[in-house]
Amino acid sequence: DSATPYYFTDQSAGDKLVKSREKFSHKGTFGHAFILAGSYGKIGAAVLSSRACAHSGAGLLTVHVPECGYEIMQISLPEAMISVDSNRNNITSFPDLESFSAIGIGPGIGQEPLTVRALDQLLEQIKVPLIIDADALNILSKHPDLLDKLPAKTILSPHPKEFQRLAGESVNEFDRLELARNFAEKYNVIICLKGAYTAVILTNGDVHFNSTGNAGMATGGSGDVLTGILTSLLAQKYTPENAAIFGVYQHGLAGDKAAEKKTKTAMIASDIIENLGW
Ligand code: AMP
Ligand code: MG
Repeated sequence: DSATPYYFTDQSAGDKLVKSREKFSHKGTFGHAFILAGSYGKIGAAVLSSRACAHSGAGLLTVHVPECGYEIMQISLPEAMISVDSNRNNITSFPDLESFSAIGIGPGIGQEPLTVRALDQLLEQIKVPLIIDADALNILSKHPDLLDKLPAKTILSPHPKEFQRLAGESVNEFDRLELARNFAEKYNVIICLKGAYTAVILTNGDVHFNSTGNAGMATGGSGDVLTGILTSLLAQKYTPENAAIFGVYQHGLAGDKAAEKKTKTAMIASDIIENLGW
């Protein structure tokens, strides 16, 4: 389609999206983020996504984890409030959603039947912006009926394998991009197709290629950090479009700063969090 608008998020495009913090603001101004993440052996995914969320400006953060994650979370991030599931190893429920301004779900949650049910119920009840990542995307792939329940402009942040599970095989990267554009229009969602030059695909099919980031980010937990950033921006009332474009840009920029200081070899996902800030 020759009319397809392609954009590139360079520094000037990224800088334009920053929302400044007003002098007379208070924590209520910046929203209450809610993250559901982690399962036994993957509480680190909850730690990384929630730390990234807290370091991206959200006013308040509540994290929902299985029982086994309670102390780990409380110690790793005293700034967060912890909501504890009744199940020891997996997320099977969630608290009243009334007070939250944005929700992020997926990192490390696994795909247990009770977790699938919880995601289904969440989709039935949610009234605020949503970002879906990782195992929550894998659940959608296995239960495509849930795709029709996604609220308009939900952000999905698949890496190539997760996208393939979700939308099927593609023969090359151009084909994959077209597949993603069709998927975004069909389900009215925003897709962050992750990798080098992450493509942010809007519901109208516009594609914003990201300029930041490096191969040092090809390491466990990098994506969980992005989920936290995006949840935080949505809580701060960035539009879903701007949250996706700006969040992906800042995630890559923090990764570039981390690589500068530590090298691409030595950096880990936590270093991306350490270098957030705009
Ligand atoms: P995940 O696979 O979910 O942990 O996500 C990996 C994150 O790291 C995504 O945000 C990718 O865009 C980023 N990433 C991975 N590999 C590269 C690369 N070679 N260049 C730039 N960013 C990358
Ligand atoms: Mg991931």
